[in-house]
Amino acid sequence: MSDQIRITLPDGSVREYPNGVTSLEIALSISEGLARNVLAAKVNGTVQDATRPITTDAAVTLLTWNDTEGKATFWHSSAHLLAEALEELYPGIQFGIGPPIEKGFYYDVDLNGQHFSQEDFKKVEDKMLELARQKQEFIRQPISKAEAVAYFEKKSDPYKLDLLERLEDGTISFYTQGNFTDLCRGPHIPHTGFIKAVKLMNVAGAYWRGDEKNKMLTRVYAVTFPKQKELDDYLHLLEEAKKRDHRKLGKELELFAFSEKVGAGLPLWLPKGTMLRERLENFLRKAQVRAGYQQVVTPHIGSKQLYVTSGHWEKYGEDSFKPILTPEAGEEFLLKPMNCPHHCEIYKTKPRSYRDLPLRLAEFGTVYRYEQSGELHGLTRVRGFTQDDAHIFCRPDQVKEEFIKVIDLVLYVFKSLGFDDYSAQISLRDPENKQKYIGSDELWEKAEAAIIEASAERGLRTVTELGEAAFYGPKLDFMVRDALGRKWQLGTIQVDYNLPERFELEYTGSDNQKYRPVMIHRAPFGSMERFIAILIENSGGNFPLWLSPDQIAVLPISEKYEDYSNEVFLTLQESDIRGYVDHRDEKIGRKIRDSELNKVPFMLILGEKEQAEGRVSVRKKGEGDIGSMTIDEFVAFFQNEIKPVAKAV
Ligand SMILES: [Zn+2]
Ligand SMILES: [Zn+2]
Repeated sequence: MSDQIRITLPDGSVREYPNGVTSLEIALSISEGLARNVLAAKVNGTVQDATRPITTDAAVTLLTWNDTEGKATFWHSSAHLLAEALEELYPGIQFGIGPPIEKGFYYDVDLNGQHFSQEDFKKVEDKMLELARQKQEFIRQPISKAEAVAYFEKKSDPYKLDLLERLEDGTISFYTQGNFTDLCRGPHIPHTGFIKAVKLMNVAGAYWRGDEKNKMLTRVYAVTFPKQKELDDYLHLLEEAKKRDHRKLGKELELFAFSEKVGAGLPLWLPKGTMLRERLENFLRKAQVRAGYQQVVTPHIGSKQLYVTSGHWEKYGEDSFKPILTPEAGEEFLLKPMNCPHHCEIYKTKPRSYRDLPLRLAEFGTVYRYEQSGELHGLTRVRGFTQDDAHIFCRPDQVKEEFIKVIDLVLYVFKSLGFDDYSAQISLRDPENKQKYIGSDELWEKAEAAIIEASAERGLRTVTELGEAAFYGPKLDFMVRDALGRKWQLGTIQVDYNLPERFELEYTGSDNQKYRPVMIHRAPFGSMERFIAILIENSGGNFPLWLSPDQIAVLPISEKYEDYSNEVFLTLQESDIRGYVDHRDEKIGRKIRDSELNKVPFMLILGEKEQAEGRVSVRKKGEGDIGSMTIDEFVAFFQNEIKPVAKAV
């Protein structure tokens, strides 16, 4: 064993340290401030305790709260702290698992009949903070399986024993902080003192190992932070998110509704929601016409045989809506789970030559997939939804160009709708396991290179994931971050070698030989339902002017100005400006307030003076009075306001 080891830091610099140095000591040698913030370290690609000795040359990344893995370690350690607090308060409690999650962590516990509810949260939070202040160190101890089993037998914790059964001797470790010891692989933060703010969020039931045959445990959700201010900000964000919840706003703004009688997960689009949705569709339709797409319409059902050919029967048949029978024996139809098979059949309606490609078929196609009732959520998880679908049939040498065109279209959509913070994931084959994919090596290599190059040429911020491709082709998925910093998955572009094969699609090449086209599935919105849900949450219902269901509200001060109001409204309608006249017998203040609540962008107030001069007094939502104009002036002003949609592709 050499006395010195070489440590490579992320900036490429190499430093020498004594063998056995810890990441924390490395941090300390750089700066004390850094050392105070180090939660864990990535050593040669593996996240481990910052206090663990390093005994070989290694690449070391110090992890802090700003790193995803640092956060996960912080929250996982907080789960241990929660368990320690619960054990002190509820003796005899047994523990399942306590992992970090996207935001915070949970611990599944068996309280053995002891009562636990929201009223107990404060007590647990206080205990956690008290233990945190003791700066209890997390101490790792490798342990033999026999000793570990003996420990949990003595403690009589059946869940840990169940977990241990599946672990191999020699890979097992305990972590102890204060009076609490847990079976755990780690890693952990150096001590509990890093945890400065604690909030229990929720309590729910959860079957042990997710199996309903097992006992129902209590899942305690919580979140912790290294600073009180971060917890305050987070709670504020949650409040904001609640206000923007698309289910709440959808109801208030009368965009959509659900009816038990119609059925769970089947949205009813109300007039205003339909207006919004149609504007979005028309917007994309126009952009697609410019990009060379042709619109098609196909039925909502198809014969079962169609989906047997496409493979969707195999994929969705058992777990989705059952076939529809007809009076004719043996005849079976399925609600369509995908539009692609129908489009393949459109491709086959006539012989295609290499000169006809690419063929781009677009459809706002409604599909139906069964989701369990517990999975349904507003417009984001439904049982019937409309995809802004299209299929591009092209030659292998056209894949890159088509990808670039689709990326341009997707970015145009994002920019027009105010999603400025987006990124994309490139999903490629698992190079170690090529046999599980359909299509030749050559095709895959070409398509993968095409996606990578197209993304680079368009300057996309991407991450590449190996092994994340579907068995039938590589893909590019877009993610946006909304106004509250939440991440949503949106549109996708997907190469497919499978369906052209299954449907025996062909085109005639310049050499008169038959070839298979490549199929690209793409949907910039994903689905209209999901996209509108995200749009509502991102904008808080304050849609861009061109999308607002009601763009103006005409507000007569009294019924004396009813005729003038109608006249103004008709003129605006002729200029394609949408809205309503508020004829109610209400005070003008009330009318203004209600228009603001309905998030109408412009209010036109009409009284004596306006009528006499043939003018309108304009109020802008959130800004107030912006002056008096003639109707023509307002129309011109409005057209100018509505214009800044992103430059068309
Ligand atoms: Zn653990
Ligand atoms: Zn498709």
